[in-house]
Amino acid sequence: MKRVLGNAVILEGEELEPVRGYVVVEDGRIAEVGTGNPGRSYVDLKRGVVCPSFTNAHTHVGDASARDVGAYRSISERVGRGGVKFKVLRSEERVRRGIRSALEEMLASGTLAFADFREGGVRGVELLRSTAGGSPVEAVVLGRPDGDDPAEVLERCHGFGISSPADYAEEELLKLRRLAGRRGKLFAVHCAEVKDDTADVLGLNPDFVVHLTNAGEESIDEVLRRRIPVVLCPRANGSFAVGLPRVKELLEGTLVALGTDNAMANSLNMLREMEFAFKLARGLSRDYRLDAREILKAATLNARKMLKLESNAIVEGNPASFLIFRNNNYIYDPVLGIVHRFEVSDIKGIVKGDVLLGGNGIV
Ligand SMILES: [Zn+2]
Repeated sequence: MKRVLGNAVILEGEELEPVRGYVVVEDGRIAEVGTGNPGRSYVDLKRGVVCPSFTNAHTHVGDASARDVGAYRSISERVGRGGVKFKVLRSEERVRRGIRSALEEMLASGTLAFADFREGGVRGVELLRSTAGGSPVEAVVLGRPDGDDPAEVLERCHGFGISSPADYAEEELLKLRRLAGRRGKLFAVHCAEVKDDTADVLGLNPDFVVHLTNAGEESIDEVLRRRIPVVLCPRANGSFAVGLPRVKELLEGTLVALGTDNAMANSLNMLREMEFAFKLARGLSRDYRLDAREILKAATLNARKMLKLESNAIVEGNPASFLIFRNNNYIYDPVLGIVHRFEVSDIKGIVKGDVLLGGNGIV
């Protein structure tokens, strides 16, 4: 199976450098990226922008059937122990339907991989895996024991996603950390979402942390000194009314990815997440030089590095996993176009392997 897509603006390589040219996909991989005319028959993208697909680095899709439930209550009343979400998520079937709708929302908005903190031990992990099974959207499942044998949970997923160090005895957490390390799996932790527990989290030497919304100066310095990868979820933090993360300092000092966090409090649309993060970073820092490309990397390539997924940068040999955006005549900068102007309706096509999935007005 071979497909030649020409007359495109391609955000090529790890630096997402715009190149006018063509891309050839063969047997699910990028066989060639070239400038100018491909010199053979091709599908005309009409100067459409080819960009790596989005990876959503932090979700709780199991809560997607409780959208905006308890929106005017505190975060702990909503998602904490005994929170209002549990009144809605009473049956597995309900959770499963929510997950299906989250997968549809992600696919429609250009996300082809996501990392989910999944509760409920073995059963919780299997519920997500079986529901996401046939979807083109790849699930990286980070489970937690919740009373089950941690080794049994880990066997079925990609690692542990720890809600908070406060939920476990220190010794127990260290055991989970060691277990994940020995099995070569991921170990990630929510960190400083509501209060600054960064010191406790960093003591666990996590593969990455999520949030840092309320991390103080010293905590941020320590994260940067140790180059701990960070997932930021600024829209969810705003929605939960817990503060806003220091996007610019983190982007400049460590590997940063973006996530949409709990589907109860936020949509799963990475276009919206990028726009919010970009303007928040510039607005708070008053630094007009902050480059939209760093935000686009956080929504695409960085997340895959963090999750140990194969890169989907548009270079020869990588798996084909990219989006084709409609090119508006007046867009001078395609990176900025994607980060803060384009809508879901501007996605003309989604390429995953040899499959060309629908968009709006398919190529
Ligand atoms: Zn979370």
